[in-house]
Amino acid sequence: MNRRTLLKSASLLPFLPESLTQPASVVAARKRSLRFAYMGDTHITPDTTPMQGVAKCFHQVQSQADKPSFILHGGDVIMDALKVDRAEVQKQWDAWHTVAKAENSLPIEYCIGNHDIWGYEQAKSDPMYGKKWAVDLMKIGNRYRSFDRNGWHFIILDSVQLTPENKWYTGFIDPEQMEWLKGDLAKTDSKTPVLILSHIPIFSPTSFFNEQNVENGNWSISGAVVLSNTPELLKLFYQYPNVKAALSGHMHLLDRVDYNGVTYLCNGAVCGNWWKADTFQQTKAGYALFDLYDDGTVERTYLQYS
Ligand SMILES: [Zn+2]
Repeated sequence: MNRRTLLKSASLLPFLPESLTQPASVVAARKRSLRFAYMGDTHITPDTTPMQGVAKCFHQVQSQADKPSFILHGGDVIMDALKVDRAEVQKQWDAWHTVAKAENSLPIEYCIGNHDIWGYEQAKSDPMYGKKWAVDLMKIGNRYRSFDRNGWHFIILDSVQLTPENKWYTGFIDPEQMEWLKGDLAKTDSKTPVLILSHIPIFSPTSFFNEQNVENGNWSISGAVVLSNTPELLKLFYQYPNVKAALSGHMHLLDRVDYNGVTYLCNGAVCGNWWKADTFQQTKAGYALFDLYDDGTVERTYLQYS
């Protein structure tokens, strides 16, 4: 029964229940394409709490009875490279690589977060300045990219741009990357479901509660917590019904928005409240398991690791 005949046969009902828009037979017929784990905002330092916390999280991800095939890291691997010198940044990356090498055997696919970018003012003449260092250490080849996995197309965006004075950052897809994204979506088979990952959310209600965002009765949302060219992205995704999910981190909070057929999922943080507490606002420190299906549906399970 296709959707049209189903609607016809349901026409005697006073209204169409939401569940009928996705019949149980369709859900039952789908096949899982893959399962991966999302770990983001690990904010590691060489200190004991983050080292042990990340190790524990790796252990739990790998000890799942239904084991994920890889880890998608949503960015902010290290505590902060924006405001510290080279030696301090090196220590944080060393801490990450030590724990990842010792405690994890799954492949990791990375996305750049704002705190992974070396933004130290005096470092501008260093060739590793900015994103170069993170791109090299994450072995991702370029700050944005795409790849295919088990019938799904993954697009990993670079959502963080340094402001013109290079003093801070803003969430934005720059024109060069936007052109690439349009081309990448255009050349992807329209039957292939697409999952997008950006560190800073494209669309997240958690941006309302990031800090005190109300002044004189008016909301104001910073471009540092939600992409400032989101309207352009929403229009673009609307042209491609095979864009199914857009994941993010950055907020350390958990949410879900369904809009125009795309599910936007913000996925908490491994570090919770930057390792000061295991809860940030109302979200516990954790990671997520994602199941992607051949019909383009996505299921997320958010888990605490301790
Ligand atoms: Zn973070």
